[in-house]
Amino acid sequence: MITESLIHHCTRCHSTNIFKNGHNKSGNAQFKCKDCGRSSVLKPTVKYTETQKELIIKTYFERGSLRGMRRLFGVAPTTLTTWIKKASNPILTTLLPVICP
Ligand SMILES: [Zn+2]
Repeated sequence: MITESLIHHCTRCHSTNIFKNGHNKSGNAQFKCKDCGRSSVLKPTVKYTETQKELIIKTYFERGSLRGMRRLFGVAPTTLTTWIKKASNPILTTLLPVICP
């Protein structure tokens, strides 16, 4: 018999001071961190890779609609909106208004 032990870390602060915190609606085990208070899924599944995300965001910036992105790639509009906000943050920070003295 082969047994395997695995130590889980908090996804925010990487602390091992976490405890099981039930299951979510999908049935996945959740944890809560005692140090930072984060509550999240213990083993999150990666649905889209970074290259897939970049392709979807580039397609959206080529005048694709949110509903069209859902039809093509199966991405929820709220998820795509979150990705777009994260992707466009560097642009927004460089276009800050100049304060004249
Ligand atoms: Zn934490």
